[in-house]
Amino acid sequence: MRVGVLALPGSFAEHVQALHAVGASTVLVRLPVDMEGLAGLIIPGGESTTIGKLLVNSGLLEPLRVRVKKGMPVYGTCAGMILLARDIGGGDQPLIGVMDIAVKRNAFGRQLDSFEESLNVPILGSEPFRGVFIRAPLIEKTGAGVVVLATLADGRVVAARQEKLLATAFHPELTDDSRIHRYFLDMIDGVAA
Ligand code: GLN
Repeated sequence: MRVGVLALPGSFAEHVQALHAVGASTVLVRLPVDMEGLAGLIIPGGESTTIGKLLVNSGLLEPLRVRVKKGMPVYGTCAGMILLARDIGGGDQPLIGVMDIAVKRNAFGRQLDSFEESLNVPILGSEPFRGVFIRAPLIEKTGAGVVVLATLADGRVVAARQEKLLATAFHPELTDDSRIHRYFLDMIDGVAA
């Protein structure tokens, strides 16, 4: 299975490694032509304003929206989750805007630039998942078709799924736990319904 990783500035190399670890082959996506024949796409973390502008400049934004509407599975981590969201509470940065979630950028403020929290993610089994949060966003609202997959201990939402769209506020590619990447492949395959 060929999975694309959006290779604009961001943590794409780590996602490529994580996908290889679960047996997928990868394609770096920088131009619309790179999306041909992809089974799914990962949008890495980084700076969502920069990635959004580059999506516009590279001509990727519109074809990407079209592919998502035709059902291509997409997994967004952190900035990738921001780009997927329909609502980020204002501003005029470009968004793909296909997932029915409201997201708050940099939700933890400057004091807590980055942190880790052990997360309970029921779809991955009982073993906790190490959540690595870096200037992380939060999911503040979820639409009717959205399933919450993980929360912080205080209940705030940090991972969700809507049909073939997956979003996490944290960075599994920075751990050696590949269960979320495997879950994404299962989503692509239709195994994880
Ligand atoms: N704070 C970044 C943004 O708003 C996201 C950070 C990340 O992807 N690690 O785009």
